Amino acid sequence: MKKTAAHQKTAPAMVSVAEAIIGSLSTGIIYLDGNGRIALINGRAEEMLHTSAGVVTGKRVDMLPLRTPIYRLLSENCHGVTVEMSVNGAVLTARSIELQVPAGSLSGEIYELIDVTEEKKEKRHREEIVAMMTHDLKSPLTVLMGYVQALRNEGTAKVDASLVPYLDEMDRSSLKLSAMIEDILDAYRLEVGLLQTTCSWCDLPALLEACCHDMGSEASSRGVRFTYDIESNIPAMNVDGDQLCRVFANLIGNAIKFTSRKGQVTVNAWLEDEKLRVTVKDTGIGIPEQDLPRIFNKYFRSKGANGFKGTGLGLTISKAIVEAHGGTIAVESKVGAGSCFTIVIPCRAA
Ligand code: ADP
Repeated sequence: MKKTAAHQKTAPAMVSVAEAIIGSLSTGIIYLDGNGRIALINGRAEEMLHTSAGVVTGKRVDMLPLRTPIYRLLSENCHGVTVEMSVNGAVLTARSIELQVPAGSLSGEIYELIDVTEEKKEKRHREEIVAMMTHDLKSPLTVLMGYVQALRNEGTAKVDASLVPYLDEMDRSSLKLSAMIEDILDAYRLEVGLLQTTCSWCDLPALLEACCHDMGSEASSRGVRFTYDIESNIPAMNVDGDQLCRVFANLIGNAIKFTSRKGQVTVNAWLEDEKLRVTVKDTGIGIPEQDLPRIFNKYFRSKGANGFKGTGLGLTISKAIVEAHGGTIAVESKVGAGSCFTIVIPCRAA
């Protein structure tokens, strides 16, 4: 199409309008041209990265001084993904995309920077409040649990036999509530780096067996078949037994929860390449393929989990605990067929 005089007049004007807009954005923008040179850096990016256009414009990344925030940003692999970086106490998110201009008249990479320091502070503050309130729930719950235990210990001499099932249910429910409180607190501890493991030499197979034994009654009360096979040659391991028991209980509890009556849950534990391997396999509802990459994210619950009780924290915490032991946790699953979670933990045998 032939350009009109009006078109030709507006083009340079548009360029300066675009420059003015980019210059006044609250988002930091850096444009690297097709030769990898910094062709544009707006005012906000200058502020966030403590640099100036005069110093960096025209330079390639390798010509920038190492350890400067702009070098760190441009050497970061944030193509198509958002990464977080901290610069002098500020928290920035960075992401880059390829410049898309028709007919290849212009090429290069655009970096977008957002200062999320305040959001982070607010989020942390909200989480602290939730953690404090959750922590405060523990005291009255402990009192209730104590009285329920006391009544159960009285036996039928003092407690009417018809009330015993109610006490048992109160006991089970308060234990579940207590576990949920611990999960919320652990999710907070995980966020602020306070989730700790205290390792000592443990007979982990015995702990797993005890866990399987407890979960077996849960399974039979739900009409789910439950079997387990733990190899006898697993040595003592230097691990946090209590925390790993939580992982086992979470995986087995999930397997039972998401499996319908007459379904099957199987636990296997064996030694391979000096590593303990535990699989928890079920024939339950399964997890949609698109959800698998998010299954260990905090509060993530698959749509299929609607109607089943839960907080979406168990797997996040389990992953953190397993990784704190230098191990891995993985899942294979098929909707309608079932799931298999595998934990691998290196043995530090005594
Ligand atoms: P919760 O069980 O409290 O929802 P988890 O973090 O333990 O939280 O699990 C997160 C989600 O992963 C569950 O809500 C469910 O969608 C899915 N999930 C976990 N284990 C299984 C399983 N064995 N079968 C089907 N879905 C599962």
